[in-house]
Amino acid sequence: MRAMVLDSPRQPLQLRDVPKPKPGRGQLLVRVSACAVCRTDLHVVDGELPNPKLPLIPGHQIVGYVEEIGSGVNSKFEVGDRVGIPWLGWTDGECAFCRSNRENLCDHARFTGYTIDGGYAEFTVADARFCFHLPDRYNDVEVAPLLCAGLIGYRSYRKTGDARRLGIYGFGNAAHLIAQIALYEERQLFVFTRPGDTKTQQGAKSLGAKWAGGSDEMPPEKLDAAIIFASVGPLVPAALRALAKGGIVVCGGIHMSDIPSFPYADLWEERVITSVANLTRHDGDEFFDIAPRVPVQTKTETFPLEQANTELDRFRAGELSGTAVLTIGR
Ligand SMILES: [Zn+2]
Ligand SMILES: [Zn+2]
Repeated sequence: MRAMVLDSPRQPLQLRDVPKPKPGRGQLLVRVSACAVCRTDLHVVDGELPNPKLPLIPGHQIVGYVEEIGSGVNSKFEVGDRVGIPWLGWTDGECAFCRSNRENLCDHARFTGYTIDGGYAEFTVADARFCFHLPDRYNDVEVAPLLCAGLIGYRSYRKTGDARRLGIYGFGNAAHLIAQIALYEERQLFVFTRPGDTKTQQGAKSLGAKWAGGSDEMPPEKLDAAIIFASVGPLVPAALRALAKGGIVVCGGIHMSDIPSFPYADLWEERVITSVANLTRHDGDEFFDIAPRVPVQTKTETFPLEQANTELDRFRAGELSGTAVLTIGR
């Protein structure tokens, strides 16, 4: 089968003919139809995440069709079913985190397209227990970005509880998806972009945000929660200053630069700073239930598998206007 392979970090992926994988016990063999590109793919390729499997097939927002079922798989999937394969690929099921509904923090978790092979290929294998059925209303390309930007964004959003006034710092793919759910649930949305980025601010307002401005500005009223989807550490104290008493800042699952020090008074009155790491299957079940009801719309640009390097470069340079989705096997 054709695959884009990472031999070592900080080198372009190589288009290569590799053996088609065989489904082991509990696994599905999946014919990949679409695989969306995530910022984490960039971090893996650029060597910013430690100890990837090498050589590695990246990609963890995979949409495909069950081609073959390994032994020991329960009846949740049949040959021909469409499945989604996310970042969380395997957990041990027995560590303290798994046993307390926090499998996203599993001590021995394996991650698709990082510590196990992913979807920049014609076929992949995945543990059936971590695969999702996907809502029928989306085609393969539309639904692919929901598998990471959507899921991890959703976990970040749920951490804000029932916050009425919600701030979002950084209005990229994940923010755009989660803003739609927040508005559907009648939250008041305050969007912060790079100072001077009036185009994105206008986009947020036309989506329904109550206010949009630069990240160097204060919102017109105090916020009950803020989610940061930008990789800029100084946004943490900035967001903290925008919070009402008891408010929460959620760092939305991205690798951030260092956070500068700030006065204790900004944290006082039970303000909270937290982060989101990975996802649980429960997040996925909830998200794929609510997404088609909103309905959450995705913005995508499609490219053939062979162009993965070009798309990673354009992503790095900020030149994409939607989520890049590799289309495979058509
Ligand atoms: Zn575990
Ligand atoms: Zn991702």
